[in-house]
Amino acid sequence: MPRLDKGTLALTFKFDCDRFLRFRLASDAEKDSLGIEADTYKRPGIELIKAAGRRWEADKYQDLIDVSPPDAVEYVEKEEVDELVGRKPFGKVENLFEILRRETPPFAIIEAEFEVPSNITPGLQEAYDTYGLDTVRARPDIIWIRPGGTGHPLIGDPDPVPEFELHVIDVKMAAEPSLRHFTEVTYYALSLAAALAEQGLSDRYAVSAEGFIWPGSHDANAFRNLVREYEARGDSDPVTSALQDTLVPVPYEVYQVHVKQFFEERLLRVLEQRPEEASWHVGPKCQLCDYVRYCKQEAENCDHLSRLPWLNQGQAELLRQNGIATTQSLREAIRGSTTEWQAAEASSHQLRADRPALLVRAEALHTNEPVVIEGRRCSFMPAWSDQNIFITVHFDPGSGITFAMGAARVYFPPGRSQGDPPQTEEYVFVVDRVDAMNPDTERARLVEFVTLVSRWLEEVSDTNSRLPSADRVSSHIFFWDMLEVRQLRRMFERHMNHPEVVDLIELLIRLFPPDQVLPDPDLFKSQPGTIVKDVVRLLLGLPIPHDYSLFDTANTLFPDRNENGDLYRFQLPFGFSTPMSDQIPFERAYELWQDKIFLRHFDPRFPDQPSRWRPYTRDELYEGIKHATRVHLRALQHIVRRLREHYRDRLTLRKAPFSAAPPTQTRIPERARSLIAFEKLNVACQELENRQRRSLPVDEREAHFFS
Ligand code: SF4
Repeated sequence: MPRLDKGTLALTFKFDCDRFLRFRLASDAEKDSLGIEADTYKRPGIELIKAAGRRWEADKYQDLIDVSPPDAVEYVEKEEVDELVGRKPFGKVENLFEILRRETPPFAIIEAEFEVPSNITPGLQEAYDTYGLDTVRARPDIIWIRPGGTGHPLIGDPDPVPEFELHVIDVKMAAEPSLRHFTEVTYYALSLAAALAEQGLSDRYAVSAEGFIWPGSHDANAFRNLVREYEARGDSDPVTSALQDTLVPVPYEVYQVHVKQFFEERLLRVLEQRPEEASWHVGPKCQLCDYVRYCKQEAENCDHLSRLPWLNQGQAELLRQNGIATTQSLREAIRGSTTEWQAAEASSHQLRADRPALLVRAEALHTNEPVVIEGRRCSFMPAWSDQNIFITVHFDPGSGITFAMGAARVYFPPGRSQGDPPQTEEYVFVVDRVDAMNPDTERARLVEFVTLVSRWLEEVSDTNSRLPSADRVSSHIFFWDMLEVRQLRRMFERHMNHPEVVDLIELLIRLFPPDQVLPDPDLFKSQPGTIVKDVVRLLLGLPIPHDYSLFDTANTLFPDRNENGDLYRFQLPFGFSTPMSDQIPFERAYELWQDKIFLRHFDPRFPDQPSRWRPYTRDELYEGIKHATRVHLRALQHIVRRLREHYRDRLTLRKAPFSAAPPTQTRIPERARSLIAFEKLNVACQELENRQRRSLPVDEREAHFFS
C-alpha cells in the first residue's frame, strides 16, 4: 500500500520530480524489481545533519515550554535519550481533538498528529479509492492557539469570528526558508481546517490563513532573550510578542495552489504510472536525492537529454515531443537542421537562442573533447592579470555557517625578469568548532581570511602608487561558483559590524558588497572578480554530463600528465566529495563540530563492507577538509590557466591597474552621494551588459532579440 509520509511530500516540493515521488511510493516488490536502493547510507555522517535539525526543533519546543506558564504547552517527551540528538526527543500528541474540546485549550500543542480528511481535495479521496493510498497523517510542529479576533485572515473566512484561532508553526533550522517549507505549512493549515470541520469543532476554532515558519538563527538563545526583553518592558503578553517578532508569516493563498496541484495533479498522475514511467530529469537539484546514482546511470544508459547541462526539463520534454529523445539525436538534428529540430525551435524561442551551445555541448559528450562555441567571446574574464587570487568557500546550508575557506595567489610582480616564476601562496582556514549554531569561530577564521586577502590587494595597490602609470599592475579574483560569492557576502553581512571585523573588512566589502551595502561604482565597473564556471558555460562544451562540476571540468580541460605519461586527475578520498555538487559534503563539518565521526577510510579490499574500513580520527578529518579545500583551489587554478592558454583571444576583459583607494568623498550630502552612486552603478551595469551582448556572434544576438 503506497504511503505518503511527511518527508515525501516536503522533498517532492524540493526536488520537483515525479520520479522521486513515485519511487518513494513504490512497493518493496517494485523497488526490488528496479533495483532502487536508497543511497543515504553511502553518505556516512548524514544522520548527524538530520539529528542537528531535530535538535534545533527540540530546543525551540523547549524554549516555548520554558517561557510559557506551567501546563500551557501540551507535549509528549519520550523516555529514552537519543544519543545523536543529545536529549530526549519529543513524541507525537495523539489526542489533538480531545485537547481542543477542553473548556480551556492550551497555549500551544507540540507535534500533534491527526488524520488528513480526504475532502481537503477530491484528489486525495481518489488516491484512496483508486490506488489504495495509505491514510495520510499530518503532524505540524506547533499549533499555536490564540483567542479569536487577532485580525489575521482565517481559512473559510468564518462569520462570526470563532472563539479561538489556530496558527500552524513549522520550526526549521534553515536561516532562509524555501518553497518546500512554505508549502508544508500551508498543507498543514489546509488539513487542519478540514479536520476541525470533520470533528465538529469549526464553530469554536478557525485556522489562520497565515501559517508561520520559525527560522534558524545564529543566536540559540534569541527567543528566550526576546521574551525577557518584553517582560522587562512590562509587555502584557511577552511570549506572544516574542513569537510575533521571531516567526516568518506564510501567506496561505500563495502556496495553497502548490498543495492543491500536488494532490489533484501530481499525486494522481504518479500513482497511475509504473515507477519507470514517471518523468525525471537529472540536474543540480538532484544532489541530495537518494536516487541520484540510479538516475545518473540510467541517463547514461539511455543517453537521456538531461545529460546536457543547462537544458531544463521543459525544453527536454519539448524536444521529445518533436521526436528528439537523446543527446545523439539532438546533435544530428541540429547539425542537419532536420524538420524535427525546426519544429522544436519554432515552438521555443529559448531553444532557438541556445542552438549553438546545445550543439557544442552534445558534440563534446560524443567526441569526448572540449569544443568551443564558435564566435563567442567572454567580457568578464581577463586574458591576463598580474595578481591572481583564487578563493573557495564551503558551508553548511542548514545553519549557513562556513566550515572551510581557501585562498591562493599567483603574483607576477612588476620588474620581474622574463621566465621568473610567479610568487605563490596558499592558505586554508577551517572552522573547527561550532556550538549551537554560534558563528564565533567562523568570525575568527573570517578575520584571518580577510586580513590575508586584503594584504595581497593592498600590497599591489601600494606598489602601484609608487610606479609610473605604464608599469602598474592589475589584480583579479577568481571563484568557481556564484554560490561561494553569495556565502562570502552572507558572512560579511553577519560579521561586518563586529568590532574585530569592522575596520578590517572595508576593502573586501567594497569588492563584494552584501545586499544592504551600496556597491562602490568604480570598483564594480572594474569587475574585480570572475565566476569561472560562467566562463566555461559561455565558451565551451565539455564531455561532462548534467552539470560542469569543478573537478570534472579540471579533469577534461587539457589535464596535465605525470612523468609516466598518465593523466593527472583532481579527485578526493571517499567522503570528501558528492555527486552534482562542488561543495565538500557538510556532514564532514558536523562530524568535526560535534566530535562524532562516522567517516571511514575506503578500503579497496572490502569495497562493499564499510564496517571493515578504518574510522577517521578527528585530526585526520581536520586534515582531510584542509586537503580537500586545497585541491579545490588547485583545480580552479588549473582551469583558469587552461582557459588563458587555449582561449586567450576570447577573453576580452581588460584590467586597469589595481587601486584600493577609497572613493573620493565629495562635499555633498549623503543622500545626494547615494543618488550619484546609483546613477553610476546604473551606467556601469548597462555598459557591462552591452559589452557581453556585443561579444555574442550576430546570429545569437538576433536569436536573443538583442539589437
Ligand atoms: S535523482 Fe533527480 S531525477 Fe532522479 S529521482 Fe531524484 S530528483 Fe528525480
